[in-house]
Amino acid sequence: MKTTFDIIIVGGGVMGCATAYYLLKMNDNLQVAIVEKDPTYRYASTILSDGNVRVQFNLKENIQISQYGNEVLATFAKEMAAGDKVPHVDARYQGNLFLVDENGRSEAEQGLQLQQSLGCDVAWLSTDEIAEAHPLYKTVGCVGGTLGREDGSVNPEAVLLGYKQKAIALGAHYRQGEVVALLADQKRMTGVRLASGETLNGGDVLNAAGAWAPALALTAGVKLPILPIMRQVYVVETPFDPDGYLPSIFLPTGLYVIHENSGLFMIGKSLPDDPVGFDFRVDQQRFVELLWPELVEYLPAFERLKAVSGWAGLYAVNTLDGNAILGEWPELGGLYLANGFSGHGFQQCHGVGRYLAELILGVEPALDLSIFTPMRILENKPIFESASRII
Ligand SMILES: Cc1cc2nc3c(=O)[nH]c(=O)nc-3n(C[C@H](O)[C@H](O)[C@H](O)COP(=O)(O)OP(=O)(O)OC[C@H]3O[C@@H](n4cnc5c(N)ncnc54)[C@H](O)[C@@H]3O)c2cc1C
Repeated sequence: MKTTFDIIIVGGGVMGCATAYYLLKMNDNLQVAIVEKDPTYRYASTILSDGNVRVQFNLKENIQISQYGNEVLATFAKEMAAGDKVPHVDARYQGNLFLVDENGRSEAEQGLQLQQSLGCDVAWLSTDEIAEAHPLYKTVGCVGGTLGREDGSVNPEAVLLGYKQKAIALGAHYRQGEVVALLADQKRMTGVRLASGETLNGGDVLNAAGAWAPALALTAGVKLPILPIMRQVYVVETPFDPDGYLPSIFLPTGLYVIHENSGLFMIGKSLPDDPVGFDFRVDQQRFVELLWPELVEYLPAFERLKAVSGWAGLYAVNTLDGNAILGEWPELGGLYLANGFSGHGFQQCHGVGRYLAELILGVEPALDLSIFTPMRILENKPIFESASRII
C-alpha cells in the first residue's frame, strides 16, 4: 500500500474531506491521503451536528464564509456527483430568527448593519411583526429580532459524504487508521505514525481531527486552546403541525429551536456545566428540568410535547475566542490546522476547505481568512464574534 503522499489529512470529517476535494480540484496530480479512524463516523461532530447554516455573524469573514457556503450548496449535487452517486443535501432556507433583548440590542444592530452591507438578506422585525408572522413565538422581554432569510438547515451527512466521494473520485487515498503521532524533523513535518505502527510520509499534514485535534497536536508539542465539550440535542414531537417550516428561533438565553418537519423540533442549548471530555451519553432529565421550562416561556404551545429522542456530540471549543484556527502552525513547517470550530464548523467547511487548499498549494486565497491565523494563539490576540462570547 502507498506510504508517501504530498499531503496527509488526519480526520475524514467534513473539514478533512472538503479540503481534500479542493486540493484535488486545484491539482489532480497531488497524492492526498485522508486518514480516518472510524469510517462509520459514529462520534464525528459533523454527523452529530444540527446542520444549521446562517449568515448572521458579527465578523465579516464568518459572514463571507457562509455566503460562499450558500453559493456552493446551490450546485452541490451537480458538482459532487461521482458516477451515479448524487448527494442530496436538502438545503432549506426557513430562516433563523434571533430574538433580541435590550442587553443584546447594540450588538445585534451592529451585526445587522454589517450583514446588510455585505448584501445579506437579514431584516429587523419588531415584536409586533414577530407576533403577527409567528404567533407560536412569544417575545417575552425582547425588543425585537433579526430574521436571516438565507439561514436554514442542511443535511450534514450528505455534505460530508458528498465531499468524501468526490475527493475519492478525484484520486484521494481514503485510509482507515488512527494517527497516534505527528512526526517532525527539527522544525518540519515529515509524516504521521498510525496505531498499526505504520508510518506515512509527507511534508504537509493537516490536523482535521475535530474534537480530538488538541491531543493529536500535542504529539508534536503543539498546545491548542481547544476543549472537547459535550452538547446535547433533544428531539420533541408536538401536537401541532404548522404549514411549511417555521424559522428556527434563537432565544437571548442561548436556547434554540429548529423546526424539522410537521410536529418535530430539535432543541438545544450550551450550558456552562456541559461535560468536558469524550462523553456521548444523552441526559433527558436535563431537558425536562432545565430546557423545557425556558422553552415554554417563549413557546407556550410546547407545554404539551413528547420527548422522542436526543443525542450528544462534541464541540471542539476554542477557549481563546470561539473561532476557527486556520493555517500553518508558525513553529512547525508543514503542520496545517483546521480546528476549534466550536458550534459553527459544519457550515464553514466549504470556505475553510478551499482556503486551506489554497494555503497548502501557495495559491492566492479567493477569500482572505488570515484573521483566523494560528499566530493569534501564540500572541494571545483573540478575535471575538461578539462581546467575548464563545459560540
Ligand atoms: C450537537 C452539535 C450541534 C452542532 N450544530 C452545528 C450547526 O448547526 N451548524 C454548524 O455549522 N456546526 C454545528 N456543529 C459543529 C460542527 O458539527 C463541527 O464544527 C464540524 O462538524 C467539525 O467538523 P470536523 O471535520 O472538524 O470534525 P469531525 O466531524 O468530528 O471529524 C473529525 C474526524 O477525525 C477523526 N479522527 C479524530 N482523531 C483521529 C486520529 N487520531 N486519526 C484518524 N482520525 C481521527 C474522527 O473520527 C472524525 O471522524 C455542531 C456540533 C455538535 C456536536
